[in-house]
Amino acid sequence: MRSRSTMFAVLGSLAALAFTALAPLARAQSPFPAAALDRARDAREAGLQDDVAWDVLRSLTTEVGPRLAGSPGDARAVAWALATMRRLGFQNVHAESVLVPHWVRGEARVEILSPWPQPLVACALGGSVATPNGANIDAEIVAAQNLDELTALGADRVRGRIVFFHGRMERTRDGAGYGKAVAVRGRGAIEAAKLGALAVVIRSIGTDSDRLPHTGGMRYDTTVTRIPAFALSNPDADLLERQLAGSEPVRLRVSNTSERLPDAWSANVVGEFPGRDPRGGIVLMGAHLDSWDLGQGAHDDGAGVAIMLAAAKLAARGGTARTLRVVLFANEEFGLSGGRDYALRHAEELGRHVCAMESDLGAFAPWGFECNVDPARLPVARAVAAGLEPLGVVWVGNTSAGDADTGPLLPRGVPMIEVLTDARPYFDLHHTANDTFDKVDPALLRANVAAYAWIASLAARPEADFGRRPITVHP
Ligand code: ZN
Ligand code: ZN
Repeated sequence: MRSRSTMFAVLGSLAALAFTALAPLARAQSPFPAAALDRARDAREAGLQDDVAWDVLRSLTTEVGPRLAGSPGDARAVAWALATMRRLGFQNVHAESVLVPHWVRGEARVEILSPWPQPLVACALGGSVATPNGANIDAEIVAAQNLDELTALGADRVRGRIVFFHGRMERTRDGAGYGKAVAVRGRGAIEAAKLGALAVVIRSIGTDSDRLPHTGGMRYDTTVTRIPAFALSNPDADLLERQLAGSEPVRLRVSNTSERLPDAWSANVVGEFPGRDPRGGIVLMGAHLDSWDLGQGAHDDGAGVAIMLAAAKLAARGGTARTLRVVLFANEEFGLSGGRDYALRHAEELGRHVCAMESDLGAFAPWGFECNVDPARLPVARAVAAGLEPLGVVWVGNTSAGDADTGPLLPRGVPMIEVLTDARPYFDLHHTANDTFDKVDPALLRANVAAYAWIASLAARPEADFGRRPITVHP
């Protein structure tokens, strides 16, 4: 990829001639005029030289850092985003207030009392209640692989115990292992409490062997007792499994001092490069501004913020027919507040959203183009995807469910486009203290900018008609 980009850089405008000579058929068949493809290619090649995303991500991780919804860091992130968009030349820059939950971590401790006492590295899951008055809960462990196994154990085995979910997340490029593994994080405390458990500890939803726990959102149900929930680092989950393999019962001590404060105000931060045609429609480019508190939110989702800001700026060079709108969503991590708010607040103009895209899988190697467009408009999507081949991105399918924040727009008819990145390294550091700026590779960050700059450049053209998706949710 590097040699290719260097070649394009050297050839400069001659590359257009070479492209025309080498692929006259593809260009003749494309729904986009040659001049549009040339401009998109220029935006893509400029993306491979881009410094904006790197500077933006360095600024966000250095000057703001962790920005959990409702926290002082979150408020600073909103101010940072407004200032950064203005500095980059965005117009109509504004904040759209969103009410978000405000949870404060406190201090969590987990240790094995018997048969062989050892402290464990753990954190509270996001949203967990404290142990009563922050005091210790001492109890025997009962282990289950997943929610089904827990239910099969029944109340007699679970009542008065601490449930340990020890299922492992599979490490795959498409990240499919996350969806399968994450249920115990989201619902584990609910299902365990129904059976009378006192607390829940889970093996981290993550694929590394660092001694760092992975946090993430968990939920309660108003009909069930709220019990505290913790994640163990994977090496500590291994240790606990080894002790459980012996003949003696394993007793655990847990304590936690988290607090849930009254809801707080945050905001979706919105900025645009307005199109020439006021009726030309809107291309939505999203990422989420909030992050978990343990790291700096570098890959999740500072990278997405940086990629979309840089890509929109490149695609907007020289003006576009349609409006490029970047939305930095509030509180993706702990309830999707920003994504839901956007879908409701902008319900009237969703019919003018040409497509929505979101970058929220880290700045790792892009490899897949997935969309959800009107099947009759697939040739247009295919033509967009074709221009990502030089970046190593292949067609995946018309199967996208949207990303977390853009997801609510799909059942309201908005077509989706996303670039999949390599999820293997992402879920090694996702939601851990290791999600820091030094883990970002500038060349891969640029490759993502290049991909979205190409897509946005073409999506801003009047020929980019992706149709509409079936509407299943009405405002
Ligand atoms: Zn994210
Ligand atoms: Zn996340």
